[in-house]
Amino acid sequence: MSNAGPKSLTIIGAGLAGALLATLLARRGWQVEVFERRGDPRLQGYAGGRSINLALAERGLHALRAADAHGAVLEQAVMMRGRMVHPLGGEPQLQRYGRDDSEVIWSVSRGELNITLINAAEAAGATLHFDRGLDSVDFDARTITCSGSGEIHTHPFTTLLGCDGAGSTLRAQMAARRDLGERTEWLGHGYKELEIPPAADGGFRIEPNALHIWPRGRYMCIALPNDERTFTVTLFMALHAESGNDDPDFDSVTTAADARALFERDFPDTLPLIPELEHDFVANPVGSLATLRLDRWHLGGDAVLLGDAAHAMVPFHGQGMNCAFEDCVALAGCMEEHDSLEAAFAAFEADRKPNATAIQDMALENYIEMRDLVDDPDFLLQQALERKLQARHPGRFVPHYSMVTFMRIPYALALERSNIQREILVGATRGLESLDGVDWAAVDTEIERQLAPLMDGA
Ligand SMILES: Cc1cc2nc3c(=O)[nH]c(=O)nc-3n(C[C@H](O)[C@H](O)[C@H](O)COP(=O)(O)OP(=O)(O)OC[C@H]3O[C@@H](n4cnc5c(N)ncnc54)[C@H](O)[C@@H]3O)c2cc1C
Repeated sequence: MSNAGPKSLTIIGAGLAGALLATLLARRGWQVEVFERRGDPRLQGYAGGRSINLALAERGLHALRAADAHGAVLEQAVMMRGRMVHPLGGEPQLQRYGRDDSEVIWSVSRGELNITLINAAEAAGATLHFDRGLDSVDFDARTITCSGSGEIHTHPFTTLLGCDGAGSTLRAQMAARRDLGERTEWLGHGYKELEIPPAADGGFRIEPNALHIWPRGRYMCIALPNDERTFTVTLFMALHAESGNDDPDFDSVTTAADARALFERDFPDTLPLIPELEHDFVANPVGSLATLRLDRWHLGGDAVLLGDAAHAMVPFHGQGMNCAFEDCVALAGCMEEHDSLEAAFAAFEADRKPNATAIQDMALENYIEMRDLVDDPDFLLQQALERKLQARHPGRFVPHYSMVTFMRIPYALALERSNIQREILVGATRGLESLDGVDWAAVDTEIERQLAPLMDGA
């Protein structure tokens, strides 16, 4: 960025992306002010809202390294080596995510992570204002109006960076000035969080180093470990009755008795683990899930959106935060490389939008995989072949999950290669019950023909 331009920036939202972006930009010499609707979580506790914990993967970790925050975050994280799949009436099975413990994901507490990043932003020199929710923007007068603690405040700004999440007020204010081409695709399914407390001896009640899944066709429970030896369980299912099936939905499962009946029938092995099931089910809200797509992410050099404000996605690939963190690094890089903010924001949008679209689509696909396919014999055979081909063609045939989770290649490239690979896997195992009948020569030829060796940008 040339020194001629404005050096002061205003970030809306001190959530995950806002606090990280503030850190990265303050370290590069920008004067950064951040306005956050909620109170300071260090003084009054973290006010949740979205999931209690999250899966952190390589893309997110890389961004945290850029802010020197990775050490503090990993200290409080719990390693997850793979999916522990709990079939109805069967024994749980661990499906490893990667080849060994260098390829794992991490369960982190949203509150602790946010506090770590807020501290990092302040240490880097950013000024954070809590209890200041953006209400409106006057782009002509270059002022924003915020409210909080019963007061209304007006502040000048030079450029606005929108990190205010899926319900972004900045996005609405930008859209009032220019159509952003906004579409929200509701999933029709929602979620509710429950808790597995520590065991009587203070330890974890089930395997700690795994992401647990209870797949049940069109709905499922998952559980992620927390460092205080608890698990956060999330039940995902339809919000309303769906035509063509008798599956449970949040409209019909509402009371404590309904919840018990559902869990007795579909998740019986979790009942002894969730002693407060009835209480939590009635007390905790149902969250809804959607994919947000925009045609434009920025208004010239005046304002730009990133993270969930630009591309909220369903959570089934565990990549929303990881993608938001990758956005922060990309935006800071573009602002360094370009002479004007308008050019920087345009380059950021051109680079990131196709990738955000790709991970949004992969996240939707992964819901089907998690809730339905993880205990399907055909899928398991394809996975077994995937592992064999990974060893047979290192760097060329890289499993879908690895490209998204353990690498930093563009999401759009991961999607393109995953589609090719899936066709190869499905074609090579069609009609087979084991890998014995695989035509290895034909598979090798297809791989060499369709998949060039993969270079990670890492
Ligand atoms: C159930 C669930 C599970 C998930 N699991 C994962 C996972 O495992 N891994 C993963 O990578 N992602 C996961 N995600 C996605 C992840 O939560 C989001 O992608 C991530 O929080 C996006 O960060 P953000 O900073 O853009 O938005 P947010 O985290 O939503 O932060 C927005 C911030 O802006 C503030 N704000 C809002 N409005 C205003 C305003 N008007 N003025 C000022 N401040 C405002 C908010 O208070 C908040 O602090 C999950 C999401 C859900 C719903």
